Amino acid sequence: MSLNYNYRGGLVHLQNYVYGEFEDTEDYIDSYNPATGQVWAKVPDSHQGDVNRAVYSAKSAFNHWAGIGYAKRAQYIMKVAKLLEKRMDEFAKAESRDQGKPVGLAKTMDIPRAVLNLRSFAESWTHILNSSNTLNEIGTVNYSSRSPLGVAGLIAPWNLPLYLLTFKLAPALMAGNTVVCKPSEMTSVTAFLLAQVFHEAGVPRGVFNLVCGYGHSAGEFIVRHPDVRMVSFTGSTAVGAKIAAIAAPMMKKMSLELGGKNAAIVFGDANLERAIPTLIKASFLNQGEICLCTSRIFVHSSIYEEFVEKFVRATKRITVGDPDDPNSFMGALNNLGHLKKVKTYIEFAKEDGGQILCGETVTTLNLPRELQKGYYCQPTVITRLQDTARCMQDEIFGPVTCIACFDEEHEVIARANNVKYGLCASVWSENLGTIHRVANKLDVGTVWANCWLVRSLDMPFGGTKGSGTGREGTHHSLEAYTEEKTICLKI
Ligand code: NAD
Repeated sequence: MSLNYNYRGGLVHLQNYVYGEFEDTEDYIDSYNPATGQVWAKVPDSHQGDVNRAVYSAKSAFNHWAGIGYAKRAQYIMKVAKLLEKRMDEFAKAESRDQGKPVGLAKTMDIPRAVLNLRSFAESWTHILNSSNTLNEIGTVNYSSRSPLGVAGLIAPWNLPLYLLTFKLAPALMAGNTVVCKPSEMTSVTAFLLAQVFHEAGVPRGVFNLVCGYGHSAGEFIVRHPDVRMVSFTGSTAVGAKIAAIAAPMMKKMSLELGGKNAAIVFGDANLERAIPTLIKASFLNQGEICLCTSRIFVHSSIYEEFVEKFVRATKRITVGDPDDPNSFMGALNNLGHLKKVKTYIEFAKEDGGQILCGETVTTLNLPRELQKGYYCQPTVITRLQDTARCMQDEIFGPVTCIACFDEEHEVIARANNVKYGLCASVWSENLGTIHRVANKLDVGTVWANCWLVRSLDMPFGGTKGSGTGREGTHHSLEAYTEEKTICLKI
């Protein structure tokens, strides 16, 4: 399959996209293929000047883009979605090579979801932006209208690169904002391919701008730029806090989707035939590199032994290997630093008195020679940790899950909430009363009951506590990407 990028010196050569032109930069960053540990792409290392030009480009395109109206904007975004869908296989292959995930997963989850993000906001916001809210009160007509903000800075992480970028892009553009996007320096390839799609779709110059580079330089320049009116960031809690410290005094709008330490609670009456396969996915899909992955499983004492035995048996059946192989359920972790971090946490678990039931340190992976320098990690299950242990408190963001035992409902709710994060949780029971009671008391943005990762775009998405601020989704992204104004007319 031929990929639509330039090759220089045998490596994929990415460019920024500013005011409708593909541009080189002075410096480049090496980007590694996680499956082999080899450099495969050169990513622009954008400096202040590159970011300034991208913001200027977006600012100068704003009045035109905001003025053409939502119906025309929707036409452009639908065209981008269609062209992206036509290149599904190419994008899936590129996402896998850049991120480490199996091609099959990119083909069934990441890229189709990116297409859906674009289509869904283009379709639904044509109606939503058309409605206004009128009230007749004491001789006045009140209504509110929504306006785009101007230039939006969109900063994305490396775990679901195109999926998460498009979840920001589609509403930002539909609202009439223009954008400067910065993907992770470790996974910039599909954002670059997306710039080609915007170009081909004929989206007016300056509406979509891409600057690649490091977070501490390109990312921070975007956040600090006075003409960037809002920042939508998905990434770690530590970086989210840095961004908030810069953007809040500048009174910028912010949407922060941050880390998680998500619990599953399995009650004694849970249907284990359903719970175990789903919790295996929840723990290890995408190598456990999804912010919504489960990393703490609390199981009622009446079924604890049975659950652990079945869960470990199922974990041992997971295939880890070549992302190109359709039989691989897990590919490679995204980068070497991250692999080291995950392995360090497994060592912490041992120091903290945990028992490693399967995975790293228990078995070794047999990989073909060409993959031996890749960043592979086996799905690892740990028990016997105290709730205060590092693996029970910190976000590991890899294929590591801890199982703990509980007796009482009120006890497990307190233990599930006893972390600094509040992104999501799942509850497993056949009793509706239990589900509703527990779901209500969990301090998180999403609770799944007897399922996981069933994501309707119509539902609000976001976290509490260290997992972020704001909600996004068909209706909720309006708050992030528009400014609402009240207009009061005396009649
Ligand atoms: P990260 O915070 O290191 O980086 C995210 C993005 O921010 C990258 O593009 C990076 O270059 C940029 N960045 C880094 N420092 C910056 C700075 N000072 N200023 C501006 N930008 C900066 O996160 P990551 O390692 O790429 O991704 C993993 C994290 O993302 C995990 O914590 C995970 O839970 C979180 N995540 C959250 C969600 C969610 O929806 N809540 C979804 C996916 C991932």
